[in-house]
Amino acid sequence: MIDQERLWENQEIIYEELTLPEESDEQGKKNRQLFCENLELILKNSGHILKTPEYFYIRHEWSLVGGIYAGSKYIPLGVLIKLWQEDKWLDECPSCAGKTYVFCAGGSPLSGSHYTNAVCTACNEIVNRKKTSGLAALMKPAFNLCKSHTQTRKILRTRGPRFSWSKGLVGEKVPDQVLEDVVKPVSLGELIDKLKR
Ligand SMILES: [Zn+2]
Repeated sequence: MIDQERLWENQEIIYEELTLPEESDEQGKKNRQLFCENLELILKNSGHILKTPEYFYIRHEWSLVGGIYAGSKYIPLGVLIKLWQEDKWLDECPSCAGKTYVFCAGGSPLSGSHYTNAVCTACNEIVNRKKTSGLAALMKPAFNLCKSHTQTRKILRTRGPRFSWSKGLVGEKVPDQVLEDVVKPVSLGELIDKLKR
């Protein structure tokens, strides 16, 4: 462990959140469809996903919670499962009146008006809804869970080289040293392939 007191003047500890995997619009749509078609399989394997960080931390641009002024958070798959298990982020399907699983919600926390995207496993369809109230009830538990399940990489950064008028550049550029790494999640496609086997 390197603590703050033992760092050199030109060193600092920084925490970096793992960025989302790049996903084109088309890939995003495909993955969303894959998620919809395989949600029952995902639900059946909830326990396994919750215990496996490579699966737990799968995130996508199309699965977030957020609002104007409040910022947004991409929701790890494991957090979605936890929300559903706590009877949160569930809704009713307008076509079959069955249960839907919300995976994205955003809007205005002031007026409460928002949209949700959910999966109805009975209809095997994505259900998009607009609502006039109730955003806070969705945001609060999701933000809390996202906060307690954020992976950050702990890095020791050494600044350099420095510029000196008399000597020019002083010191060599030191590469970042990763002190604590994050678990890199597999892709949704890989997860589903593994669950199907
Ligand atoms: Zn339905």
